[in-house]
Amino acid sequence: MTIQEQYDLLEKTVRGYNPAADFERIKAAFQFADDAHKDQKRKSGEPYIIHPLAVAQIVAEELRLDSESIEAALLHDVIEDTPATYEQVAKLFSPTVADLVEGVSKLTRIQYATKEDEQMENLRKMLIAMSKDIRVILIKVSDRLHNMRTMEYQSPAKQKQKSLETMEIYAPIAHRLGMQRIKWELEDLSLKYLDPVGFEEITSQLEEKRGEYERFMRRTQIQIDERLNELKIEHIVYGRMKHPYSIYRKMFNQNKSLEEIFDLFAFRVIVESLGDCYNVLGVIHDIYKPILGRFKDYIGTPKPNGYQSLHTTVMGTDGIPFEVQIRTREMHEIAEYGVAAHWKYKQNGQGAGTEGRYEWVRRLLENQEGADAEEYIHSLKVDMFADEVFVFTPNGDVQNLPAGATPIDFAYAIHSAVGNHMVGAKVNNRIVTLDHSLKNGDIVEIMTSKAARGPSRDWLKIARSSEARSKIRQWFKKERREENIVNGRASFEAELKHCGLTMKDVTDPELLPGLLKKVAYPTLDDMYAAIGYGGFSAQKAVSRMQGEINRAIRQHHLEQQAAEAAAQQREEPRPAAPKRVKSEQGIIVEGLDNCLVKFSKCCTPVPGDEIVGFITRGYGVSVHRSDCPNAAPEKRTDQADRWIKVSWGRDTNENYPTTLEVICKDRQGLLLDISAALSTTNTFVLGINSRSTHDEFAIFRLEVRIRDSGQLETLMRKLNQISGVLQVTRPAG
Ligand code: MN
Repeated sequence: MTIQEQYDLLEKTVRGYNPAADFERIKAAFQFADDAHKDQKRKSGEPYIIHPLAVAQIVAEELRLDSESIEAALLHDVIEDTPATYEQVAKLFSPTVADLVEGVSKLTRIQYATKEDEQMENLRKMLIAMSKDIRVILIKVSDRLHNMRTMEYQSPAKQKQKSLETMEIYAPIAHRLGMQRIKWELEDLSLKYLDPVGFEEITSQLEEKRGEYERFMRRTQIQIDERLNELKIEHIVYGRMKHPYSIYRKMFNQNKSLEEIFDLFAFRVIVESLGDCYNVLGVIHDIYKPILGRFKDYIGTPKPNGYQSLHTTVMGTDGIPFEVQIRTREMHEIAEYGVAAHWKYKQNGQGAGTEGRYEWVRRLLENQEGADAEEYIHSLKVDMFADEVFVFTPNGDVQNLPAGATPIDFAYAIHSAVGNHMVGAKVNNRIVTLDHSLKNGDIVEIMTSKAARGPSRDWLKIARSSEARSKIRQWFKKERREENIVNGRASFEAELKHCGLTMKDVTDPELLPGLLKKVAYPTLDDMYAAIGYGGFSAQKAVSRMQGEINRAIRQHHLEQQAAEAAAQQREEPRPAAPKRVKSEQGIIVEGLDNCLVKFSKCCTPVPGDEIVGFITRGYGVSVHRSDCPNAAPEKRTDQADRWIKVSWGRDTNENYPTTLEVICKDRQGLLLDISAALSTTNTFVLGINSRSTHDEFAIFRLEVRIRDSGQLETLMRKLNQISGVLQVTRPAG
């Protein structure tokens, strides 16, 4: 066939199903491609234009696509293989045609390497996702079909590689899009190169029995045909052999011989209505004995790719089993041409019932309601994987990420260690920023370094995948903890030093629990981690601890001095003149300077009271009244070296808080009288609490500030004089 004849055939084919096609444009596309490829030859030695013409022929004959698809098929290699540009094609034809050609070229550029199943599935999805317009993938599949048909001219290595790719990528895509006929042909052609011996074995066996098989098929066809004619059921019936690759799979997977394969022969009965399908099934079961368990109703329950048919296997008159597939014309077209058939039906305004099986196509179709057919095809996009993006690792693995994913998502999808050590990223060999959004087919390379500082907080905002985000968060929590502790400890120590303190002060086992309480961390490491990570500052930590530490330091001094003083006291039982020392809050602690003093809450001594001191741990000297139960003589023998002599100095003030308890018979105006007593003695009142007992008594608790025991005695006397007052005491213990 000459090139012109081939072109004429193409035109004739298109005219057969689409008389309204733009034949001027189609012709222009042919001439443009012919010219662009004029210096190129195929491996067979033929002019290159043979190939685009053949692809366009497949697109027309097998898929019956629109004008633009035919033009794009003719032009599909010009952008990739000739000086022609996208802009030229867009200008001479249309931007849509240019997009289709560019789309096909992009798929051509992808490098495949054979991978495990999951990887292959991702590759297939990527191809479909990259196609955007479904016509791109249909043209690409047609391109591959023609290349497989003419594979004999390629080197054996190339044959194997392309066949594997076809088997793993293109045949499953054809299947997914429901294009069974193309799928079978792709599989058979691939098998021929992948297992030439196995292929040869099957085809030669089939060839050997060809005569026998054909006679059997003709006989059976006539039997069915006659019976259906008698019943006046309009139909087409024909038989076919199982295709070599299906036989191959059965023979090798199930270890069967050709004779043992049940459904080597299949007959198709194509009828006009759904009802006829079930009628024909009854007729077939009447003529032939059905084999139990072999009936399948794919009309009631279609296959995921939309395939519908009734399948049954019966025993033929010669004892040869065969399968019968019964379906309507529409089901048949969908079975043969898949997605492309849907278009045809939609264009003719028929077949609304079946496309529900193609979930994503149906969704697209619904959006197109009311638009005319041509416009509808224009906007038919593949949004099957619109929320996903598929990119390559440098060694050809495919990563499947959410749409809008960045190198950060990619790095964490590979491994959290890759993400945590990432210092940069390259996309298609160019350095990009980490918020660069990845596109289908990008080759992404993550640059890592042992010295990487790890993820930053910003990454959480940039990452699109929850996987990446959770791995980053995990890192902040865990992996960086060690580092945070080291850094946090360093800055804490520096701050301590700045304040004249040392780690020894902090780690003192008596002090540490109190210090940790002050900063509200369970352990020092937790606090260091927080400082290192920036959640808490070293300054705050030290300032919160400082008071406690200083007290402890004073305490330390105090204990030393107290020990010395006690030793001195033992050596010289009673020094003639106690050393005059500066008092602290009016208290002179014997033998000690500048020591922290506090008044015990239990007995609240005031100047003039007989008092005694107790050296507490960490809080200086606590002053009790000598008559306080907590300072009872038996207690003083307990920790004898902690009890110390104290006395009132001359520099007392008027600010000694103490407590009085007044018990009275309750009556009206009692509080008024108590207030009067307080005011006449010039007593500063900190608080008054009262409660009534059940037997009509009242107990008042007066918190007052007292100058000395003289003032206190006057006050107590005044209170005692109030009518109804039974007892005034200074509670202790
Ligand atoms: Mn091509």
